[in-house]
Amino acid sequence: MSKVHTTIALPTGQKITIPTGLFINNEFVPALGGETLETVNPSTEEVICSVSAAQAADIDRAVQAARTAFKTTWGKHCPGTERGKLMHKLADLMERDAQVLAELEAVDNGKPVKIARDFDIGDSVGCIRYYAGWADKNHGQTIETNDLQKLAYTKHEPIGVCGQIIPWNYPIQMWAWKVAPALACGCTIVMKPSELTPLSALKLCELIVEAGFPPGVLNCVPGYGAVAGHALTYHLDVDKVAFTGSTITGRKIMEAAAKSNLKKVTLELGGKSPNLIFESADLDQAANWCLLGITYNMGQDCTAGSRVYVQDTVYDKFIQLLVKKFEQVKVGNPYDEKTFNGPLVSKGQFEKVLGFIEEGKKAGAKVLTGGGREGTKGYFVKPTIFAGVHPEMRIVKEEIFGPVLAVAAFKTEAEAISLANATTYGLGAGLHSNDAKQCMRVSGALEAGTVWVNQYNLLNNNVPFGGYKQSGIGRELGQYALANYTNVKAVHFNY
Ligand code: NAD
Repeated sequence: MSKVHTTIALPTGQKITIPTGLFINNEFVPALGGETLETVNPSTEEVICSVSAAQAADIDRAVQAARTAFKTTWGKHCPGTERGKLMHKLADLMERDAQVLAELEAVDNGKPVKIARDFDIGDSVGCIRYYAGWADKNHGQTIETNDLQKLAYTKHEPIGVCGQIIPWNYPIQMWAWKVAPALACGCTIVMKPSELTPLSALKLCELIVEAGFPPGVLNCVPGYGAVAGHALTYHLDVDKVAFTGSTITGRKIMEAAAKSNLKKVTLELGGKSPNLIFESADLDQAANWCLLGITYNMGQDCTAGSRVYVQDTVYDKFIQLLVKKFEQVKVGNPYDEKTFNGPLVSKGQFEKVLGFIEEGKKAGAKVLTGGGREGTKGYFVKPTIFAGVHPEMRIVKEEIFGPVLAVAAFKTEAEAISLANATTYGLGAGLHSNDAKQCMRVSGALEAGTVWVNQYNLLNNNVPFGGYKQSGIGRELGQYALANYTNVKAVHFNY
């Protein structure tokens, strides 16, 4: 076996060879200094394999490859129709390999195979096809000026070399959200997946080659944030960084851009999203959405609905329903098609979430269900509900990124809005009510980039997504994301 591939066993027992090198210029290569990092299976706590860990010199190689491709085979050198065709081919290959990719995700991330296959990969394929459609349609405008002999027009030109840094919670979907609009717009890419979940991003690189993308268009450099991520964000020949991850790292990315070459930055950051349950709501449905909101992806979700506020007149009834639903969630083996919650991604995340649970208990909040680990092996946590919380508790204020919910009652609509908005974040918010006027009023008053009415956490590839306040800058998905990867050029024409 080469230094840049290894063989691992998938949950079905099937053995597959996976790439473990850095992906630069359509080739897998070791890090120049031979550095590696280990990736761990969170269900078994065992090391899966070692993967090359990019250092500053490797980032430089990848950026050079991306720059050369931008100047020669991609960017303005490849028509949008061709870019779109290659992207559709990539989507076809992802569909073909969906099962293997899903199993790899289950091993590396702990995500249930069924959810990874049907949602993460299904939605990612949709995202790539959506932007493939845009590749030849992202036109500028012709603008009349006040001089009849002159006109102006705009062109949407690709920004150039983009550093893309993604987290571990949706390794394939975050990859697709970033890669698809960038490729459609003609940008080249240096992608840094999370050090915790590099395997699916590397597997996708094989598909990049098979689809026929020219060398250097997409490069992939697993590595640690403080080393590889740092080098990418400070690199003087990177034109833009698109980042998804924590708000703390988001600040560092902005600082790096400011201190280096003022590269453009878009940020998708954390959240502490509320769900408001009004007395007219269909309580059973609302409880289903709240359950999904905090247990989907084991609560490791930037839009996790981690706070629920319920009108006092229906509080007891709603909580009863919710607790019952929480206790029915199947936590366990992510390879079982019936499992809804697998393990958390890592020991660090597991300990962080259990730490929050213990702190909630010490602060006097009441555990209604859950409240600790599930089983004795693997990073499994019981879906947990805390009642008796107050706004100053850390479990109410901070992003936990696990299946831990805080519930409280409110009396009036104004109080509900005030509680919902009492956060530095502004990513998502849900409201549940059968009063249409109330839905209009409250959705208008909520400070969040996405508001769900009588549903929660559903996204569409053609609807923009992003944060208010400290949840981010810019929008992903939909037509809006094209602006992240293009410069607008105005041409004044004298004829
Ligand atoms: P993280 O910020 O620790 O890491 C994210 C990525 O940044 C990783 O690839 C990491 O290696 C890299 N990184 C870390 N330090 C860096 C540095 N100094 N310079 C450059 N890169 C660096 O976040 P995480 O723990 O992987 O992911 C969880 C967070 O992501 C949560 O806060 C969650 O809310 C957020 N998230 C947001 C969205 C969204 O769309 N808004 C989506 C998913 C996750």
